[in-house]
Amino acid sequence: MKSRMSPRESVIAALNHEPVDSVPVSGMAWTIGAIAGGFTTKDYAQSGSKMAKGQIAFWDKTGVDLLHPTSDMGQTAEGWGVKMRYEDGLTPMLDVFAVKESEDWDKLAVLDPKSDGRMRVTIDAIEYIRERLGDKVALMPYVPSPLTSATHVCNMEQVMMDIVLDPDPLHRGLKTMSETIVAYIDAVIDAGGDGALFATTRASGEITTEDQYREFGAEYDQQILRAVKKQGGSNILHVCGVTPHFELLSSYPNANGINWWDRGSNLTIEQAKKSYGDRVCLVGGLDQTTTLILGGPDDVRNEARQAIKAGFIDGTGMILAPGCEISPKTEFVNMKAAVTAAREFSFRR
Ligand SMILES: [Zn+2]
Repeated sequence: MKSRMSPRESVIAALNHEPVDSVPVSGMAWTIGAIAGGFTTKDYAQSGSKMAKGQIAFWDKTGVDLLHPTSDMGQTAEGWGVKMRYEDGLTPMLDVFAVKESEDWDKLAVLDPKSDGRMRVTIDAIEYIRERLGDKVALMPYVPSPLTSATHVCNMEQVMMDIVLDPDPLHRGLKTMSETIVAYIDAVIDAGGDGALFATTRASGEITTEDQYREFGAEYDQQILRAVKKQGGSNILHVCGVTPHFELLSSYPNANGINWWDRGSNLTIEQAKKSYGDRVCLVGGLDQTTTLILGGPDDVRNEARQAIKAGFIDGTGMILAPGCEISPKTEFVNMKAAVTAAREFSFRR
């Protein structure tokens, strides 16, 4: 009998629409990783070995196939001069923005992921986890896209004003950030990572129009994904709004998967499978805002079963996951129940 695929192989196979033994499971664990490892969020956000130990502890308690070693949105933004606020038990927050007016976009520099900001923390964590867990897990950290990064270094209203009134300096800033992001993902892959959970979070109708996203988002996203592919990496786009520009994102020639909030947005997993299932791997099915926090293992099991029935109808192209970061209030047994359900229901409906 053929031996089971490793979790790492299974994630990559699902992203490439190849057959899998069962639906792989992932969960964006940031602060819950710190909790799993018994670290303060500040220590976890500043030390690669602590982040790695927290991620391994989360993996140990849940059995997920794919980890996204990350602490917060500031890991790159801090390199561009954003000041963070740390409060125990909470995900570190962006506190003081670096870009205050449109001329400031030209002051951004291309960063070195090994020394600027806190990208190094994730790079070290990946090296540490890969050394200890080998192929027992796939590793794709959260990496913000250029337009998402723009809204981490500058407040969102200002970015939206620049899109409409003063686009040239913003475009130059997006180019600088793109070069940094390519270097970051290269370093992630060199350290043993499998690519990126690439946050295209502004590709949603309540933030940008599709035309705006095409010009200020997609253009840069696709350049970065081309560079990632050259390195042999995979990607999952992450969009967490309620009206995602799914048509545009799924038409990227080099997107492998899309993670979105199927339970809270205007696109269910059934509809996504019908309309986009042959283009991209669907990454979703679990509601991080309700079932995972408020429900128990049986509720999660039912939700997982229903999602797999809808999204895995052709036996590939799905990863079971929450639509955004797992709340630190989530019980580990709930994520574990999702993993057990995926093993049980992938080929038994
Ligand atoms: Zn999100």
